[in-house]
Amino acid sequence: MMAVCLIVLLVSYGGWKTKNLSLSGALSAFLMGCIISYFYHWKGLLLIGSFFLSSSIWSKLFSASKEEIDGRLAKTSVRDWQQVWANGGPAALFIILFQITGSEWWLYSFAAAVAAANSDTWASEIGPLSRKDPVSIRYFKRVEKGTSGAVSVVGTAAALAGATFISLLFFVIEGSFQWSYFILISAAGFLGNMFDTVAGAYWQEEFTCNVCKSSTESALHCGSPAVRSKGFAWMNNESVNFLSSLLAGAAVILFLR
Ligand SMILES: [Zn+2]
Repeated sequence: MMAVCLIVLLVSYGGWKTKNLSLSGALSAFLMGCIISYFYHWKGLLLIGSFFLSSSIWSKLFSASKEEIDGRLAKTSVRDWQQVWANGGPAALFIILFQITGSEWWLYSFAAAVAAANSDTWASEIGPLSRKDPVSIRYFKRVEKGTSGAVSVVGTAAALAGATFISLLFFVIEGSFQWSYFILISAAGFLGNMFDTVAGAYWQEEFTCNVCKSSTESALHCGSPAVRSKGFAWMNNESVNFLSSLLAGAAVILFLR
């Protein structure tokens, strides 16, 4: 346990030093890593660590392709505490429920929650590499890259790969493989990403900048407050991520019941 916590500390510190995490993000990652490794030992840590590491790699590797969309997004690739808990909070909750109940179902929902977070992150990191602009699922027309609620072939393939990657890794870590559960976890992870897209299209808040008139997910643009043009207050990228990961884990339980 001590050794695992020390690894978490080093990774969180590394994430902060390499500017993948803000200070609040690094502290949150440390706390979450300790919770997950306390209840699911090195196995849980390896799974959530693979999500964090692969996302950071894509983020750094493809940062050039996302320069044009950074103005649209509320946050940069430096993850703060809200982004860390939005992506890992449901997983931490499910692993605690696994420990309390002793039922393996919660272990599968933990894996599905991580798969959903990974699916969404891979889609948003790799999707912008698409040569064509994504299509809005609400208006069925092409929109700027980085717009929530829009899909592309590249992004969807990345989402599928992201969910499958975590699902497969989960069984490698567990040392056993079952096709039915592999498909269930992958599908639940991808479902979480689909929810993310739908919520992004209909409910996620969007603003119009008063200064440059561009639409953005940030409440502050060009140094001045922007006006909400769509969606519910507080339904931002973080709450949508949290809900999609929660939904993925819940879907596994509902299916198994
Ligand atoms: Zn502006």
